[in-house]
Amino acid sequence: MKQIIIISGKGGTGKTVITAAFAALAKNACFADCDVDAADLNLLLKPEIKQRHEFRSGQTAIIDQTQCNQCNICREVCRFDAIRENFVVDPITCEGCAFCSHVCPKKAITMQENIAGEWFVSETRFGPMVHAKLGIAQENSGKLVALVRKKAKEIAQLRNCDWVIVDGAPGIGCPVIASLSEIDYALIVTEPTLSGLHDADRVIGVTKHFRVPTKLIVNKYDLNIDMTKKIEEYCETNQIDLIGKISFDDSVVKSMVDGITVIEYTNGKVKQEIINIWEKIKQLK
Ligand code: SF4
Ligand code: SF4
Repeated sequence: MKQIIIISGKGGTGKTVITAAFAALAKNACFADCDVDAADLNLLLKPEIKQRHEFRSGQTAIIDQTQCNQCNICREVCRFDAIRENFVVDPITCEGCAFCSHVCPKKAITMQENIAGEWFVSETRFGPMVHAKLGIAQENSGKLVALVRKKAKEIAQLRNCDWVIVDGAPGIGCPVIASLSEIDYALIVTEPTLSGLHDADRVIGVTKHFRVPTKLIVNKYDLNIDMTKKIEEYCETNQIDLIGKISFDDSVVKSMVDGITVIEYTNGKVKQEIINIWEKIKQLK
């Protein structure tokens, strides 16, 4: 079984469109949407949720008003000013450090786990999928990403899948780093612009740091041939394998509007270009 991830230096490069296209081409694969802050692979793969689980992360202090004698000690020690004058904890500002619960002479404070989001095991028309939704204003997406990856791998093993195909988060933050563990190949999607190259270079820095073999895909390469040439030169200088280039094609947007993959939508050039890239990925050792 091989685990591949599709990532990009920033959002909007076509990363999810390409991931969904690979999903349509791969036979016997399991999918993981690790872009938990802005999950949208579901818009193209239309998962049917089979299992729904709470994601718990972090803690919030709760004061039992029947036990509290209003001594004010907890308010004095809370560095985050999270306890209001009426001795009710503000769940937004409480950092879950539990200091108040240790100093309360009446043992009136308990720590409660936060429900920080949900994760799902679903079926799509191409295979099983694990995805998640982080709650509003919730942090720790790295932990949720790691959970989604772990579950996707477990399902893939259980079903003897040949592939785990991961839609990664954009950028170089904690969710990306969390999603890179045990990955066989990272495919970085970029566009032919100076900022696109700059962003791709930053992600390549991360994948190199974690020693993940990395390939580059230039999406909409024909919109700026000069810049595509610069990216090719960059790849040569930095020994990055440019695994494929995909043309601009408005059928990509039309397929998104229809909520299907570009592979299902068209038989045009763009489909063949993606198939060519997928064939190369299949050959990777
Ligand atoms: S320390 Fe305990 S008893 Fe004192 S105000 Fe806080 S919750 Fe109430
Ligand atoms: S857990 Fe920490 S941050 Fe939250 S109310 Fe208690 S002392 Fe303040």
